[in-house]
Amino acid sequence: MTAAELERRVARIHREMAVQAAREARPTVVELEPLARLKLHQHLLEEADGRESGGGLFGRVEVDRIVVEDIVCAPASVVRTGTRFFDGGGYPQMEAKVGHAFVGHYHSHPEGGGEPSELDEAAWKRWRARAGGIAFAGVIVASLGRGFTRQLVTAYVLDGLGLKQVPVSPSMVLTGAP
Ligand SMILES: [Zn+2]
Repeated sequence: MTAAELERRVARIHREMAVQAAREARPTVVELEPLARLKLHQHLLEEADGRESGGGLFGRVEVDRIVVEDIVCAPASVVRTGTRFFDGGGYPQMEAKVGHAFVGHYHSHPEGGGEPSELDEAAWKRWRARAGGIAFAGVIVASLGRGFTRQLVTAYVLDGLGLKQVPVSPSMVLTGAP
């Protein structure tokens, strides 16, 4: 075995170990790193046309928390309405390019409210399966002000125990430009 082969093998074992750990994790908080928070906030400000919007969350799953380090906005081909969002984005395949694991999905509720619909829960279950059955973050961003100038972020974790609402750190309300 060459050094390069050995390196690839070790990398694969590390990835498999990370996925296994993420399957067994029971996170109780979702943390949005500054870059992810800024991009998410900006995305919803830009697409504040009364229709739902969203995308993939990338980062890492730890034993007791999911850390979101970056986001990828949904492709333009998604179906957006005032109450529904059908996202067929290929997020699991983007991990290498983004440099982080696909750990969650976000979408907006232009009319407010942070409660997931039955469709939201079903979508999160499908995304979680596609992410390898890891503990998965479902994030809803509700508009509190006109055109998402104030945004209330609500987070849920779907893991082996089911779906639960969890706190978002560091802040729940994002405020846009005055
Ligand atoms: Zn929803």
